[in-house]
Amino acid sequence: MSQPKHVAIVGATGAVGAEMIRCLEERHFPISQLTLLASARSAGKTLKFKGQDIIIKELTPESFEGVDIALFSAGGGISKEFAPYAVKAGAVVVDNSSAFRMDPTVPLVVPEVNAADVKNHQGIIANPNCTTAISLMALYPLHQAFGVKRVFASSYQAVSGTGAQAIEELARQSRAWANGGRTAWDDARLPESEVRVYPHQIAFNVLPQVDSFLDSGYTKEEMKLENEGRKIMHHPDFRASVTCVRVPVFRAHSVAISAEFEKPITVEAARAVLAGAPGLDVVDDPAAKKYPLPLDAAGKDNCAVGRLRMDCALDNGLCFWVAGDQLLKGAALNAVQIAECL
Ligand code: NAP
Repeated sequence: MSQPKHVAIVGATGAVGAEMIRCLEERHFPISQLTLLASARSAGKTLKFKGQDIIIKELTPESFEGVDIALFSAGGGISKEFAPYAVKAGAVVVDNSSAFRMDPTVPLVVPEVNAADVKNHQGIIANPNCTTAISLMALYPLHQAFGVKRVFASSYQAVSGTGAQAIEELARQSRAWANGGRTAWDDARLPESEVRVYPHQIAFNVLPQVDSFLDSGYTKEEMKLENEGRKIMHHPDFRASVTCVRVPVFRAHSVAISAEFEKPITVEAARAVLAGAPGLDVVDDPAAKKYPLPLDAAGKDNCAVGRLRMDCALDNGLCFWVAGDQLLKGAALNAVQIAECL
């Protein structure tokens, strides 16, 4: 890699920001200076990088002087407001929010799929939606071999996908239940006062709503696999009907996918393709009860695919199950990989 870079992380104290710091360190990203930025609430606190305390600074329009690469992970509003300042100061922005993903002038990149798009940037590169990135890690190699037409998918999304407050919400609700002297036969419903982040209790529940609803009845999150998938795979005809579900899992998303392909497909041929795919492990031995689990995917760079079977309701169809750490491949790791491409 070339000259060490001055890297800034916007949202360094968040669930994704913490993983970005770790990824930069573990992957030995060549850094001359690391600037950690967050809200005024965090200014003056410290975070460790390579054993050294780095003082967090408040994000301001002047934060980007001398910065080469700015990794943004503080929400779409912050990205829209502050990314232009970073670009003006000469930095390349890698943005984790949805603010610029569908902007035709902004590359949307999963390096294992479309790393070459990085070079078309005009100052901003977008990181895809976490469920989309994890799904494409398995779907794209299959698309290359068999030509995907459409998918039907359901996601099982961890609370850390919503950020640090949601992680705390699941922990707090679980403690409230455990400390409440209930048995498993009692109603698991907690008092309304315990419900703060999601519209309903997440502990001991599943919520068929991730993000807000569109007029079509789908949520915004559910349309990202189709819209972002088309852009990343350069496949404008790709179709995806998705139901996104929040589950009481701390970390790592899972997605059940039924995919229909142009060409005939077999489980054996699909397995051979997936076994050679970068960033992906095949964990598929149902007889031995081996399949991808979010608990196993948590903290790992690679995504995992399993439960491969012919889809009994589609022609040239394959069902599979992908799990991946959405804080890593769905966010921090992917962003650092994009920075490496730069
Ligand atoms: P989070 O844990 O809630 O962290 C939010 C971060 O943003 C914190 O560092 C916070 O700083 C900072 N922030 C909030 N308001 C700010 C302000 N006015 N000025 C400067 N910094 C501010 O959220 P997260 O899960 O890390 O997500 C961050 C972004 O990544 C979001 O855009 C999200 O959509 C995207 N993303 C998340 C995931 C995931 O799995 N979590 C995956 C893909 C993409 P303070 O601590 O000072 O408040």
